[in-house]
Amino acid sequence: SYKGQIFSFPINLFTLYQLYNVTTPQQAKDKLKEVSVKTDDDSLEGHMLSTVGPEIYNTFVKGYTTKQWGRSPKNLPSFIIKRLPIRFTYDDNYFNDKYQGIPTCGYTKMFENLLEGIEVKLEVDFLSSSFDRSDYKKIIYTGPIDAYYDYKYGALEYRSLSFEREILEGDFQGNAVVNYTEEEVPYTRIIEHKHFSDPKNSITVVTKEYPQEFDVAGDTEPYYPVNDIKNNNKYKQYENLSTGESVVFGGRLGLYKYYDMDQVIAAALKATEDLCI
Ligand code: UDP
Repeated sequence: SYKGQIFSFPINLFTLYQLYNVTTPQQAKDKLKEVSVKTDDDSLEGHMLSTVGPEIYNTFVKGYTTKQWGRSPKNLPSFIIKRLPIRFTYDDNYFNDKYQGIPTCGYTKMFENLLEGIEVKLEVDFLSSSFDRSDYKKIIYTGPIDAYYDYKYGALEYRSLSFEREILEGDFQGNAVVNYTEEEVPYTRIIEHKHFSDPKNSITVVTKEYPQEFDVAGDTEPYYPVNDIKNNNKYKQYENLSTGESVVFGGRLGLYKYYDMDQVIAAALKATEDLCI
C-alpha cells in the first residue's frame, strides 16, 4: 500500500503493469532498462536505482526501508533487499522455494514439542557470574554476542519492533501481509494471521509492526542486526574473540547475521552436525 493505492508485491509483471502498463516480460525488461539509472553507488539505494529506477525505489523501498532500519538506504548494504525477488512473470510469491510453510499450530507449539522431555530453566541469567557453566559439557549461546563479551568493544546496534494486535470480526485486508511503504505511516506492515492457515474463520487477528531502535537499557528486544559497515567491523572484533572459544555461537544474535527463518534453521542443523550432537 502506497499513498492509498494497492500494488502487487514483490515486484512482478503485474506490479510493472500497474505502474507502466507493460504486459509482456520483454516490455517489462525494456521498461526497467529505460527507467534505471546508472550509478557506482553499491548501497541499497544505489542498487535499487540501478536495477529498477527512482519511481519503483521511491514507491516500494525508500520509505519502508528508512522506517524499518531507522537509517537512510544510502547507508545500508544492498544484500538486505536482494532477498526479495524481481520477477518478469505474474508470480507474486514472496519466496522461490519449492516447499513453503509455517508450523500448523504456530512456532510456540513447535518449540514446545521440540523441547518435550528437555529441562528448560527460565528467568536464569546465563551471563551472570553466579551461573555455573562447569555444570554443562557443551554450551550453545544464541544471545547477543556483544552482551556475551560485556560490550568490550561497545554495543552492537540492533533494530527492534513493537507489535500492536487487534482482534476483529470478518476479513480485515484479504491477504496475509500488506506492506505500508510510505514513510509517513508509522508501521511497516500489517499481518492478518488467518490468511496463512484459516481464512474462513469469522474472527480475525491483525498485527501492526512498528520498527524501533533496540536499547540495551530499555525493555525492547533485539530482532534485527544492523549490518552496516560500522557494526560489521565491530562484530568482526567480537567474532575474533569467539574463535577458539569452547562456547558455540548461533542464531541471528550470536552470529550478528540477518538470517531468514529457513536459513537460521539450516545453520542450526549444520552446527549440530559439526558438533556431532
Ligand atoms: N523492503 C522494502 N519494501 C517492502 C518490503 C521490504 O523496502 O515493501 C526492504 C526492507 O529494507 C526490508 C528488506 O527489504 O528490511 C527485506 O524485506 P523482508 O520482507 O524480507 O523483511 P523481514 O520479513 O525480514 O522483516
